[in-house]
Amino acid sequence: MSDPLLEELSDQVVGEVSSGAELSRLTTLRVGGPARALVVTERDEDLAAVGRVCQAHGLDWVVVGRGSNLLVSDAGWPGVAIRLGRSYRGIEPLGATVRLGAAEALPSLAMRLADQGYAGFAWAAAVPGTLGGAVRMNAGAHGSELGDHLVEVDVVRLSNGTRETWPRDLLGLTYRHSELPHDAVVVSATLRLDRGEREEIREEISGIRAWRREHQPSNEPSCGSVFTNPPGDSAGRMVEAVGGKGLAVGGAKVSERHANFIVTSPGASATDVRTLIARLQDEVESQFGVRLRPEVVMVGDFSAPGET
Ligand SMILES: Cc1cc2nc3c(=O)[nH]c(=O)nc-3n(C[C@H](O)[C@H](O)[C@H](O)COP(=O)(O)OP(=O)(O)OC[C@H]3O[C@@H](n4cnc5c(N)ncnc54)[C@H](O)[C@@H]3O)c2cc1C
Repeated sequence: MSDPLLEELSDQVVGEVSSGAELSRLTTLRVGGPARALVVTERDEDLAAVGRVCQAHGLDWVVVGRGSNLLVSDAGWPGVAIRLGRSYRGIEPLGATVRLGAAEALPSLAMRLADQGYAGFAWAAAVPGTLGGAVRMNAGAHGSELGDHLVEVDVVRLSNGTRETWPRDLLGLTYRHSELPHDAVVVSATLRLDRGEREEIREEISGIRAWRREHQPSNEPSCGSVFTNPPGDSAGRMVEAVGGKGLAVGGAKVSERHANFIVTSPGASATDVRTLIARLQDEVESQFGVRLRPEVVMVGDFSAPGET
């Protein structure tokens, strides 16, 4: 390993360190290039070390959860991509609240919380992200969002390696958005959930999954909703109204099933997706005077074909 960055990371981090990892394999859109380095962190000290090494090398970091809301550029990520390892999973009941590991996948959490009689988390059963990503995005569905039940989050700050507890009110949660600083990696979240009947919660989850299968593409690579809904309207409705359904650029296509989903086929590039996003924004803006805002987080260099 001749890259000094990789050598330093390997020396200081207990978890896995690799160079040139293909981020397309870590995202649900399945497009995009490699990360210069990928680190799977198992301890807060690892996160602190990644922060130190990045700053020493003048490099940026990106946290990758399940990559279910990421569009990585074809050139990839020139810095360090961070994933939380297995040690950041777990469900810990704390009396009236429950602390959840940030690396937990939402669908699995929803099922296990239902099994333990916790209500109020069923909405997450069909959101294929991690809890950490859900905090960052204030993910939500079916009339609920993460912030509804959130009490506080624990974060590790990459800029100085400290662990901090942030109460919900400091997170600046709004629709699909938080004000978490760029250097804050969510390592756990504490929720206050109601108690409920297991069977009822499981039925609710089955209903949500059935609804998804019927209304959204479930077997094709996507990032879920591409755009946030503008106030009082629906991005999917607007895209459909401008004839966007089925519109394709290279291997990226607006789903026939749901106009706010872009699906990719093998061979698609991030540029295809990005170009299609820009085209839909232009079409909607010319007809409705509203520029749709991407919900998907763009990672890497997208200087072409234009900013959003
Ligand atoms: C089929 C499908 C359906 C979807 N449906 C919904 C839906 O109904 N509602 C909804 O809200 N979303 C939906 N999404 C989008 C996505 O699942 C959510 O935004 C999810 O919360 C992202 O989690 P993630 O772990 O995949 O994050 P990623 O996509 O990996 O990252 C998203 C952002 O969070 C940051 N991040 C990730 N982990 C952490 C962490 N531990 N600490 C700090 N920052 C972090 C990343 O750096 C990035 O900025 C859907 C996606 C798909 C593919």
